Amino acid sequence: MKIPKTVKMYCKFCKEHTKHEVERVRKKKASELNLGQRRFRRATSGFGGFPRPKPEGREKPTKRVNLRYRCTKCKKASTPPSQRAKKLEIVEVR
Ligand SMILES: [Zn+2]
Repeated sequence: MKIPKTVKMYCKFCKEHTKHEVERVRKKKASELNLGQRRFRRATSGFGGFPRPKPEGREKPTKRVNLRYRCTKCKKASTPPSQRAKKLEIVEVR
């Protein structure tokens, strides 16, 4: 999957469309206050163990990629929900 180095998209801080720089980042650790994390802690506590079947056998052919979009005007960054891709390339497009 090829992704342009700069994209024009909406900035929620500037409240207009501005140029954003794309950067690949590592997944951030889940906060213990997140609903999903709280639910997971509740499900794994006590008897019963893991709530889902153990992932065995094949490895998934695609991996999740986390991208960060930084506004060039206000320098603030936003991270939209991650996508799946086999291979990721950030390319320069003019
Ligand atoms: Zn901005």
